[in-house]
Amino acid sequence: MEQERVKCLIIGSGPAGYTAAIYAGRANLQPVLYTGMVFGGQLTITTEVENFPGYPQGVAGPALMEDLRAQAAKFGADIRFGTVSAVDFSSAPQLPLHRVIIDDEKEIVADAVIIATGATAKYLNIPSEKAFAGMGVSACATCDGFFYKGKDVAVVGGGDTACEEATYLSGLCNKVYLIVRKNFLRASEIMQDKVMNTKNIEVLFEHNTKEIYGDQGGVCGVKLWYKKGTPEEQERDIAVHGFFLAIGHTPNTEVFKKYIHTDEVGYIVTQGKGTQTNVAGVFAAGDVMDPDYRQGITAAASGCKAAIDAERYLTNRL
Ligand code: NDP
Repeated sequence: MEQERVKCLIIGSGPAGYTAAIYAGRANLQPVLYTGMVFGGQLTITTEVENFPGYPQGVAGPALMEDLRAQAAKFGADIRFGTVSAVDFSSAPQLPLHRVIIDDEKEIVADAVIIATGATAKYLNIPSEKAFAGMGVSACATCDGFFYKGKDVAVVGGGDTACEEATYLSGLCNKVYLIVRKNFLRASEIMQDKVMNTKNIEVLFEHNTKEIYGDQGGVCGVKLWYKKGTPEEQERDIAVHGFFLAIGHTPNTEVFKKYIHTDEVGYIVTQGKGTQTNVAGVFAAGDVMDPDYRQGITAAASGCKAAIDAERYLTNRL
């Protein structure tokens, strides 16, 4: 297998990966960045981004990611298309050299590795949610809620994220339906209280999404099942323009789990305020280690921290 030695390997091409590459490039770490399958990360499936600082007129998600890519390339980052298929982070602490296999065909031996592989929002797996992605269907209320100001929207899920998204949207939208498949919310008491005491949120317990429908302008409504599979089963139709998924995220950490400590959901655990993982010289940045904020700007900030941590680590070590 072809082998290549690099000083700093960055895995992932979202805001965390590219920002790490900008900082690592400027610090002369000659970073090599592998993009993964979704070139540009989650923001490339968003239409308009209005909350990334520095873009007063807003920016299309793909355009923002292209700007970040170009900025990383300007400072010497070697950006390549490829996906990590295996890793070996078992080297001796005295001489940590981390081995990362790309697409089963090339081995990168790196002094420092920054994992910025992000997280993937869970979807319901119904055809219409793909058809209306970016046209009314979204997995991020903070990102896209503003576009539904004064309109009726629905959020699906019964956990803290769903309650938080519903509460956030209730401040912007006319009415928010919270679609919950069970007859109770899984969210913390305080989040439940907020939802139950907000006048323009209606919780639809024991409802499942059957189909999202709309036209060329986007989503117009959602067909629901009430008590699906029971004698009381009924169909219901709600007219909404936005449909927000909040049924959890899956951090993209499967390939690292043998070596890197994660929490019970799979998010990488880092030490203190920094980005160091349990393996010396391996750092994590962005949504892959952050179940709480999950914003482009917080991911970018943590990519910056990871590059600084890597630079300090390499300076002390080499
Ligand atoms: P959770 O896994 O906690 O909740 C997911 C919710 O989505 C559940 O209600 C689940 O239903 C529902 N769900 C899952 N699949 C489907 C489906 N196919 N159809 C319909 N509903 C579905 O995810 P969260 O993102 O809410 O939270 C993740 C973690 O992050 C939690 O630990 C949470 O506490 C934490 N968090 C904390 C926040 C805070 O403290 N401010 C904010 C946001 C998250 P069911 O209950 O039936 O399984």
